[in-house]
Amino acid sequence: MKANIGDMVWFPRFETHQEVWETCEECLGEKTMHVTLKNGEEYDIDCSACDPGGFQGPKGSTRHYKMCALGELREVVGMELSETDTLYRLRSAGGSWYNAAPDGIFPTQAEAVEVAQKNMDAHIASEEERLKQKAKPSHSWAWHVNYHRREIKRLECDLEQHRARLGIAQEKEK
Ligand SMILES: [Zn+2]
Repeated sequence: MKANIGDMVWFPRFETHQEVWETCEECLGEKTMHVTLKNGEEYDIDCSACDPGGFQGPKGSTRHYKMCALGELREVVGMELSETDTLYRLRSAGGSWYNAAPDGIFPTQAEAVEVAQKNMDAHIASEEERLKQKAKPSHSWAWHVNYHRREIKRLECDLEQHRARLGIAQEKEK
């Protein structure tokens, strides 16, 4: 919409409302997953869905953010005009400053909330996409199983070598 200095306009906004922890959907709070490989071997592995990374391991619950779309009434306190664009300078009741293009402000709260809702949905979708990509290679079930099997083999091999060396040393001491 077009506005003039001194007008009160509605600005779409969404904010993170509260943090909620929900029981992990993958492991149902058990923190482990039972995996059966094609060759019949079975493993209990850490659930990666509720593992925030680092050393503390899976939590059995995952964090979600409840978000809230809203419209906020703001006063137009300034305008910047260029050949192609208009930019409004807005001030909220709390005293914060914002810039908005004409298509970013609305005459009614309902319209602002509707746009805020759309922005919020797009934001959530892109967040989920980002998390999915981040979780990909290193957090797949297969990766965990492969990693641990490889480590077991490696350590078994080490163990044999250490035993062998110790055996030789004991032989020499005699
Ligand atoms: Zn889990």
